Amino acid sequence: MPRPIRATIDLAALRHNQAVARRHAGSARIWSVIKANAYGHGLVRAAGALADLTDGFAMLDFDEAVALREAGLHHPLLLLEGFFQSEDLPLVAEYRLTPVLHHLEQVEMLISAALPVRVPVYVKVNTGMNRLGFSPDALPTVLAALKTARQVGSITLMTHFADADSEERGITEQLVRFRGAVADYRHPVSLCNSAALVRFREAHGDWVRPGIMLYGASPCPQLYSAAELDLRPVMTLASEIIAVHDLQRGDRVGYGGLFTADGPMRVGVVACGYADGYPRHAPTGTPILVEGVRTRILGRVSMDMLCVDLTPIARAGVGSPVTLWGSGLPADEVAAAAGTISYELFCALARRVPVAEV
Ligand SMILES: *Cc1c(COP(=O)(O)O)cnc(C)c1O
Repeated sequence: MPRPIRATIDLAALRHNQAVARRHAGSARIWSVIKANAYGHGLVRAAGALADLTDGFAMLDFDEAVALREAGLHHPLLLLEGFFQSEDLPLVAEYRLTPVLHHLEQVEMLISAALPVRVPVYVKVNTGMNRLGFSPDALPTVLAALKTARQVGSITLMTHFADADSEERGITEQLVRFRGAVADYRHPVSLCNSAALVRFREAHGDWVRPGIMLYGASPCPQLYSAAELDLRPVMTLASEIIAVHDLQRGDRVGYGGLFTADGPMRVGVVACGYADGYPRHAPTGTPILVEGVRTRILGRVSMDMLCVDLTPIARAGVGSPVTLWGSGLPADEVAAAAGTISYELFCALARRVPVAEV
């Protein structure tokens, strides 16, 4: 008999969320971001469900791009970190990939390669995040080199925002820098992740790049919940109670005895731990559903199990259904309690957890 833990992926919710992104995007085209195994939701599964609704897919790994081609998808595929060595270039051409160029070595590799086709490229501009991209000063030289190169097809200019989800900072400074850097060119532009897509219409440009919102979590949970943005959870992580204990005042729970009962209470043990992807640092009080009723986890999360307070749920016992996050319990709330973000919860879903589509 398998452990009762499982993840379900609601493909109708994924398609709904893509439609929400489409509503925000208006006439801009959409790269559905499916990097990191579609944020833990299954690469080919997610891409297949979105194939007739999106304009392209964005990811990082060659393997992921090749898997999509082998699954029969003909969409444009954007490699968000570009290629890493000149040996990658024949594959970029063969699989018709669109690499992001963000440093000079990549430009040199591309314009000295012998390729059978012209490669469409994205040129990334660093407008203040200081992660990837050319400085605005370097852009004219880079574009001059690319425009005359026989290896290069269409050129799109892009940037990425550091604070699109933040009330105080937002995108203003970076948007001004980007507009200054690209003012002399007529190339298409791409700027927005999910947070910028839902918050800043003025930045939409020609192509937007939503990721997290497709999976039904809020890109800016401090400002709007997923429900307020009409987003539906795609991944639900569920398990069951596998043991129950009655505790007395002073009894402790789990490794380190971090939780101490202050009176008689019932505690349930859930078959889910950090080796399944549940965050080990989630503290006592992190929300969880048992029999559909909201309660809290107790004590330290262990590798294969965690403990929950069953005191408010008299009918709960061994075999009671448990929801760790997803339908009925937003991942954003679990993430906030654990001091992290929904992205990390989704990406951490462990291989040992069976996944079913609904
Ligand atoms: C991951 C990523 C996105 C998507 O970001 P979300 O916050 O998940 O919408 C967009 N653009 C780039 C460059 C990315 O790396």
